[in-house]
Amino acid sequence: MEAPAVTKTVGHFISGAVVGAGDSAKYGDIFDPARGEVQARLAFADQAIIDKAVAAAKKAHKAWSVTPLGKRAEVFFAFRGLVKAHADDFARIVSSEHGKVVSDAGGEVTRALEVIDFACNLAHHMKGEISENVSNTIDTYSLKQSVGVCVGITPFNFPMMVPVWMFAPAIAAGNAFIVKPSERDPSASMLMAQLWKEAGLPDGVFQVVHGDKFAVDALIEHPDVASVAFVGSTPIAHYVYEKSAKFGKRVQALGGAKNHMVVMPDADMDAAADAAVSAAYGSAGQRCMAISTAVSVGGAGDALMAKIRERIAGLKIGPGSDPTSDMGPVVNAAARDKIKGYIAQGEREGASLLEDGRDIRVLDYENGFFVGPTLFDDVKTDMTIYKEEIFGPVLINLRVDTLEQALELIEKNPYGNGTSIFTRSGTAARKFQNEVQAGMVGINVPIPVPVGYFSFGGWKASLFGDLNIYGPDGFKFYTRNKVVTSRWNDANAGMNLGFPTHK
Ligand code: NAD
Repeated sequence: MEAPAVTKTVGHFISGAVVGAGDSAKYGDIFDPARGEVQARLAFADQAIIDKAVAAAKKAHKAWSVTPLGKRAEVFFAFRGLVKAHADDFARIVSSEHGKVVSDAGGEVTRALEVIDFACNLAHHMKGEISENVSNTIDTYSLKQSVGVCVGITPFNFPMMVPVWMFAPAIAAGNAFIVKPSERDPSASMLMAQLWKEAGLPDGVFQVVHGDKFAVDALIEHPDVASVAFVGSTPIAHYVYEKSAKFGKRVQALGGAKNHMVVMPDADMDAAADAAVSAAYGSAGQRCMAISTAVSVGGAGDALMAKIRERIAGLKIGPGSDPTSDMGPVVNAAARDKIKGYIAQGEREGASLLEDGRDIRVLDYENGFFVGPTLFDDVKTDMTIYKEEIFGPVLINLRVDTLEQALELIEKNPYGNGTSIFTRSGTAARKFQNEVQAGMVGINVPIPVPVGYFSFGGWKASLFGDLNIYGPDGFKFYTRNKVVTSRWNDANAGMNLGFPTHK
């Protein structure tokens, strides 16, 4: 059967309008992962597009940064209402380009809304501090001011939620924001741009440019860009962090993960198996907080493996648009082939392959990018499938004797995004939360992504920078402190060449 002609082209969103769809020098393909077919093409930015977007952002920032807080909040509440009204559209768009099932994409929309909720209270988050009488009739106070034109470079796996993590606090704080979404699933960002316009956000405050390394480099190098936020794989996060620092930008760069779930022998094994299966295979394992590594302690492994296998047998793999599917395809052919390569490597290096998802066939979707749930036992720390982030529906299990050994494993792993423990012992749980070397910790919770009013971020190679993303840290990242020292006193303070003191 011949593939249908591609009729849709996605352009950039600059100064309140879609541009560049018809006259781009370079285009990329947007796939339907369930069918393995190109569904649209995407215009890639050249230098002129980047310059145009940054110039519009710079101009828009001037007015937006002094727009009264109450007016900004009104725009945010309107945007929130529109996003909520379009929640089903977002879920459908995300599912069609990413591949995840629609209900899972709906969860992403809900988490994005929580981050917007927090930003709606921007008047509170923008408060400074004051100390009266730091010296005679002298008061000192701090102001939080916007930083200017802010850029966000986002990954494919949460095409709606991750841009919101960045732009909600940025725009609330009075900045202008340009997002460069993943070229694999850019359409959620385009719908958000339209909704911002409908909500009354002035043109140029939120813009979208598309592309690959060229666009990313051009944005980082642009002299009028003040800050860069990145979420994606660790090698690119490190590259963006270094390059942004070199160009004098404020930067935070979140990277990849290898999240360990420790299962103690006293855990509720059914709850642990349910959690492992949900967190390992949900979104086909393409979550930065996916559980990719089980660590079964003191003989917990036999029961855990058996229960996980029972559950895998009941999972339905199919297109994301089918409400009966539990798990959809992975994002593209390259990801599918890479994941299958890791499975082969795991077998070669001697791990026990208990479930093999390589040969899965989905009726009517034979060309889709599917990989079935895969399970390895007896994995050792020198194996490639332990050392590298697979980012697919592959769960590995390591067996250790004690909680101390589990903690040591996690400490030695270069990543430190999330981790969890399943136990009925408060003592074990408290020791774990206190000693474990990771940024996000779950206790009988497999995916500990916090709510919008906390901030999110990993440790070690999972985050370069010193602030977490969204929540209170988001407002810190997107504001500059200005400290004012003022004296109001009709009496002349007199001349004094000494360094000022409080006396
Ligand atoms: P990726 O690193 O391939 O791409 C992320 C972004 O960087 C995209 O916008 C892409 O266009 C751009 N990019 C790619 N190559 C580049 C290059 N050479 N130079 C400059 N820019 C480049 O990541 P991905 O495959 O889209 O997303 C999956 C990764 O993201 C996983 O590693 C996952 O763990 C990670 N992730 C982390 C978090 C977190 O919070 N820490 C959240 C989501 C995803």
